[in-house]
Amino acid sequence: MYRMKFKNGLSNMLNIKKILRRIKLTNSKTAYIELSNICNAKCIFCPYLTIEESGKKLTTMDNGIFEKSIDYAVKLGYEKFSFTPVTGEIFINKNWAEYIRNALLNGKVRRIYFYSNAILLNSENIEKILSLPNKDKILFLGFSLGGIEKDTYKRMFGVDKFNIVRKNINNFCRDLKKQKQRIRINCVLYVPKDYQYTKKVVSSIFNRAKYKYFNVVIPRPFLSFPGIKRYNNLDYRNAKEKNEPCSCLKNIRFATNGDVWLCGCVTSELPNDESLKIGAISDKIDVITENKNNILRNWKLKKIIPLACQKCTKYVPEK
Ligand code: SF4
Ligand code: SF4
Repeated sequence: MYRMKFKNGLSNMLNIKKILRRIKLTNSKTAYIELSNICNAKCIFCPYLTIEESGKKLTTMDNGIFEKSIDYAVKLGYEKFSFTPVTGEIFINKNWAEYIRNALLNGKVRRIYFYSNAILLNSENIEKILSLPNKDKILFLGFSLGGIEKDTYKRMFGVDKFNIVRKNINNFCRDLKKQKQRIRINCVLYVPKDYQYTKKVVSSIFNRAKYKYFNVVIPRPFLSFPGIKRYNNLDYRNAKEKNEPCSCLKNIRFATNGDVWLCGCVTSELPNDESLKIGAISDKIDVITENKNNILRNWKLKKIIPLACQKCTKYVPEK
């Protein structure tokens, strides 16, 4: 009996250690690899349309830039990777699955995740996800939704794709369940403030197969962006006082064209603002590190806040 208790105690301890390791990695610094900065939606809460009109070169990442970006990030000590673009849709890059496969096979990459709008989550892309190696490294796959019916979706996402998205996510959940997969799915709802829904109703619409690892995320109020239209029926976050450097500055982003930026959130690169750009993958690592440290030092010691961060409503103070 004592032996049994000891065994149980040991296995509990190992489980706790495993959970703590997982939490630590989930909260650790993230390298964003942007496989596409082209999007197939026109969400009213996103600066994508303004970025498109600004004349920014919209493109997908090529293999050379991808390999250098992963290599660079690993050398900088990143173990967690997000393939969510600042603005853009991952599945627009036709080679997205090859890049994710390479990342999952890289021994230094411990966790990956990405968000998509699921418009291109067709049977071909579902098959590609199911064929990925080392799926235990996938932290979650996220899908952004503009409501639980056609009209609100169209109003929020600017395109008439609700039925396609509903079908795609349902098919994906069905196939995940059939294959006894354990990939966590997070569906995030971007809806007006008076929108009525419950997590249960959302699940009944997008997860008819009742796939066990399906999660509905109700996001905090929307971010607002300087120079971008605000809507009365959306709830926006207020800007906070920014004393300490934002903790998102520990994150790094490798853009489609090989430029390297700090942070990876949607506010970090807006038209006519390169305040968080710290170089390119053709630069030496020392140069990138020095540029990053300069931004942090300026904020911490001289209270010089990068332009992108000044009006950012996402700001996350260091704990
Ligand atoms: S929120 Fe995402 S899906 Fe919508 S326009 Fe912006 S990048 Fe595209
Ligand atoms: S304040 Fe905003 S833009 Fe600046 S690092 Fe934080 S999240 Fe990124």
